[in-house]
Amino acid sequence: MDSFVYDGLPSRVIFGAGSVARIGDEVARLGATKILVLSTPRQRAVADAIAAQLSGRVAGMFDGAVMHVPAPVAASACARAEQLGADACIALGGGSPIGLGKAVALRLGLPILAVPTTYAGSEMTPIWGLTEDGVKRTGRDLAVLPKTVIYDPELTLSLPPAIAGPSGINAIAHCVEALYSDTANPITSLMAREGIAALARSLPAIVADPGDVSARSDALYGAWLAGASLASVGMALHHKLSHTLGGSFGLPHAQTHCVLLPHVAAFNRSAAPAAMDSISRALGVADPPSGLRDLARAIGAPTSLKEIGMAEADLDQAAELATQRPYYNPRPVTRAAIRQLLDDAFYGRPPIPAGDSV
Ligand code: NAD
Repeated sequence: MDSFVYDGLPSRVIFGAGSVARIGDEVARLGATKILVLSTPRQRAVADAIAAQLSGRVAGMFDGAVMHVPAPVAASACARAEQLGADACIALGGGSPIGLGKAVALRLGLPILAVPTTYAGSEMTPIWGLTEDGVKRTGRDLAVLPKTVIYDPELTLSLPPAIAGPSGINAIAHCVEALYSDTANPITSLMAREGIAALARSLPAIVADPGDVSARSDALYGAWLAGASLASVGMALHHKLSHTLGGSFGLPHAQTHCVLLPHVAAFNRSAAPAAMDSISRALGVADPPSGLRDLARAIGAPTSLKEIGMAEADLDQAAELATQRPYYNPRPVTRAAIRQLLDDAFYGRPPIPAGDSV
């Protein structure tokens, strides 16, 4: 076996249907007595129900979380936390409230207890993001890693298939890039393979029956492993492109991942044979790029940039932005190749077959 480095991150995970009932014990374990509960407006009622379980230990609610943590929203949440004298945050929901909790933790040092209800995976990472004047900055800081994560599949039953499916493929994208990361290691690869397999078998089952608690459990387990993979190793072209299209052209986060992933996997296919072999086995398919596209289609996820709001006139600039600065990718990235990849993704063409090059 080659030598490697593995960074294990310190977080406590409580997993299982009904596990949110244990939140009182977990709050006590953190010693928190003045909690600020963060959510989106859509999940305010669930946030209120959780607060009601915490007998006087909640100081206030903030339900203004939105995608990509705009700086003014982060400033409002921090002001509320300071005004309340909060000593911890509970972040309930997807990557948006968890990202907001991280912004508060970064500025005020408050511990986070995360209750994730999508498959984005942010709860397992020390990665924060903040969007100011249309530009999203990100960084890594252990202070923003949630201390405790409660994964309760029952809280995901309300996640509609149209959000659950793309969110799950967003998680699979973390696993795919972890497998060919320049900092890949056997432990992360183990989690990534298991994450892909759990998500690939559960997402179609969730779309067929959104009330299937066992499939919801499997998907949340896969999302946890995907988040842990993202947390431990560096990402590559797929995340760079997705963030470029989301950050600079306002495309929806999870849907953008769905469209791009088969194309990026095809681009990297010949340069990352061991990762492709792992993805093949985890998906149970011969060709990972085609298998990823078939999965997206099976769950009704978008397969073209055109249908999720990209303007064809912006493709040149997107290719430019995504190739301006060098970064790791198993296959060297050129502007011309990425422009072609974006063209294929824009029109929703199938990923290039093995043997062809972009
Ligand atoms: P999100 O948190 O905005 O959730 C999407 C929508 O689903 C929202 O309207 C939300 O209210 C709703 N929702 C969430 N759970 C629900 C439930 N159980 N039932 C009904 N509705 C529910 O989006 P997301 O896709 O979870 O996260 C995307 C954000 O997370 C992006 O900003 C992305 O950059 C960030 N992210 C960060 C990391 C990291 O490590 N820092 C990792 C992954 C994603």
